[in-house]
Amino acid sequence: MHNYYNPEVETASREKLNQIQTKNLIEQVKHVYDNVPLYRERMDAKGVKPEDIKSLDDLKKLPFTSKQDLRDTYPYGMFAVPMEDVTRIHASSGTTGKQIVVGYTDGDMDIWNTCVARQLTAIGATKEDKVHVSYGYGLFTGGLGLHGGSHKIGCTTIPVSSGNTARQLTIMQDFGSTILGSTPSYAMYLGESAERAGIDTSKLPLKAGIFGAEPWTEEMRQSIEKSLNIKAYDIYGLTEICGPGVAFECTEQNGMHVNEDHFIIEIIDPETGENLPDGEKGEIVFSSITKKAFPLLRFRTKDIGVITHEKCACGRTFVRMSKPLGRVDDMLIVRGVNLFPSQIEAVLLKENHSPNYQIIVDRNGSLDSFEVDIEMNEEHFSDKPSDIIKMEKSLENKFKSALGIKPKVNLVSPDTIPRSEGKAVRVVDKRKVYSNK
Ligand code: ADP
Ligand code: ZN
Repeated sequence: MHNYYNPEVETASREKLNQIQTKNLIEQVKHVYDNVPLYRERMDAKGVKPEDIKSLDDLKKLPFTSKQDLRDTYPYGMFAVPMEDVTRIHASSGTTGKQIVVGYTDGDMDIWNTCVARQLTAIGATKEDKVHVSYGYGLFTGGLGLHGGSHKIGCTTIPVSSGNTARQLTIMQDFGSTILGSTPSYAMYLGESAERAGIDTSKLPLKAGIFGAEPWTEEMRQSIEKSLNIKAYDIYGLTEICGPGVAFECTEQNGMHVNEDHFIIEIIDPETGENLPDGEKGEIVFSSITKKAFPLLRFRTKDIGVITHEKCACGRTFVRMSKPLGRVDDMLIVRGVNLFPSQIEAVLLKENHSPNYQIIVDRNGSLDSFEVDIEMNEEHFSDKPSDIIKMEKSLENKFKSALGIKPKVNLVSPDTIPRSEGKAVRVVDKRKVYSNK
């Protein structure tokens, strides 16, 4: 038995989907041309007018949008409706100045909630279910995203938010949560904690979970399924496009269906920008074709993936994307926080420390460890352990306020960080979070 939230769209023929997408794309291009100066300028520069967009194939004529464009127009430069029509703001994790602010109209919220409701329905959720949301609530889209989808279906929503694991487990037992939403690493942690607390998860009503916001592997899936005694499903999204629910797994657990009536996915060669066919690995690009407050054309996600139009046994016709298989840039997701090596560098330069550093990320059980080795320069050189410890603590706090998470800092002797062809190796990620398909 397969359940759909919007069967007429989710199982529509390719021809019908093309029609829907074409209509939405044409309208969206007009909307952004009329309301977002950046798009009007870019399209004018390319000599493309909204009237030139007549079919899906014409998407290629449109300019790309990058994360930098969103930073340059911070905070509201990409908003395409008057502020009075914006009923919600979210922002991507990240530090001040780097964060991306996005807005939603009431209609946009409804689209987002619908996308999440489709996933919940696909994995069997009904009004009878109790959806336990352990994604963080706040500007981060995870918590309120899943919350909205659950509410839309009429499930009993339990807005626990993240943290306080003992309390999470008590709620799960006493309230009878049936579906969990969290990051996959937190789900692993909940499983481990349940085991330590002597909770027999096979006796809990919990039956499924929706996990996303960070990369995870098939091995992690198996481990979560075993320890929490549930089915574990993947959900993909990004703040810029709407948050979780851009693409979702069905019970086949074989790729994520893109909500194609609202988002168009393309895979491009990150070097040339050319479109790549099904089955070829490249950068994932999304256009949001129905959202009004913060519509993006051809947004380059920097995630690497592949798509397939092959029929899925669930009956959905929406194209499927693989799990992200890596990144085009050097972004890391550590304990749910997106971070770039350049942010580490910025702190070191500001504090007059040597910019010779190495980030070491590992995962012990479900918890990410995050260390930064930094070479001491002349100014800071000391062989007095108490001085070194003081400097390390001070740097840890500086990083915490700049990044949102605290690394363990190790000050090391000059010239001890490994170089490769003269260049320091900036990131050592031992977690193997991406599957190598
Ligand atoms: P989110 O609210 O989803 O964390 P962000 O905008 O902070 O949104 O981060 C989006 C990025 O998170 C994506 O570009 C991708 O790299 C990563 N991500 C989101 N969902 C998944 C997933 N299911 N699997 C792997 N990576 C994911
Ligand atoms: Zn399917």
